[in-house]
Amino acid sequence: MRSVKLYADGALGSRGALLLGDYSDQPGHRGLAVTDANHLRWVMRTLGGKGFQVCTHAIGDGGNRLVLDLYEQVLGELKPSDARWRVEHAQILDPADIPRFAELGVIAAMQPVHCTSDMDWADERLGEERLKGAYAWQSLLKTGARLCYGTDFPVEKVEPLEGLYAARTRMHPDGTPIGGWRPEEAVDARTALWLYTAGGAWAAFAENDLGVVAPGYRADLVVLDGDPVACEPAELLGMKVTATFVAGRLVAGADR
Ligand SMILES: [Zn+2]
Repeated sequence: MRSVKLYADGALGSRGALLLGDYSDQPGHRGLAVTDANHLRWVMRTLGGKGFQVCTHAIGDGGNRLVLDLYEQVLGELKPSDARWRVEHAQILDPADIPRFAELGVIAAMQPVHCTSDMDWADERLGEERLKGAYAWQSLLKTGARLCYGTDFPVEKVEPLEGLYAARTRMHPDGTPIGGWRPEEAVDARTALWLYTAGGAWAAFAENDLGVVAPGYRADLVVLDGDPVACEPAELLGMKVTATFVAGRLVAGADR
């Protein structure tokens, strides 16, 4: 074990995500700081000082700023050589905080399906202005930030192909909204696949074992009946897994 997960705030759907300003659909309410900041700092210092990777759940722009401020302070004190501290979700960011991920070397661990799950009502909760930093994958990548993608199972389905589709389109599986929701933040097919595989491996200190198909790697992999990079996004939704390998051994599908 080398990592610890902390919680800074709640979720957007329940208005528990900590915002810098009031919720657009609930004046006077800014969400919840679920863990005392002094306690967060203490855990980060104590475990970070012993070499643990710190991963903190933060969804609102207030939660993310709080975590970035604490990371900046504690990483500045500890000066670890290869910390790879993460913010889990990093969903709503104040635009001023977007460059801080790259500056601090903090990974944004994000889940494309959260964008497509939330997009129908996110503007009501947050208002147009705050959407500029919402699920801002491209904006983060442009600053040189490290990202990784995941499913957030069991909160969302364990369906990485749907995640790849969401990452490329920012649309529901039925193709709405046409053209995608804030499509300027969508990523291309190769980037999406990389963030789900090699990006995740790096964020878990497993880049020498997992994430790519190459000699010496663990060969935890699936065989698909289509090309997840060359295909049209909608084809991802019908793609089938024809074989599954764990540590190089066939465990399901094909001729087994
Ligand atoms: Zn979480």
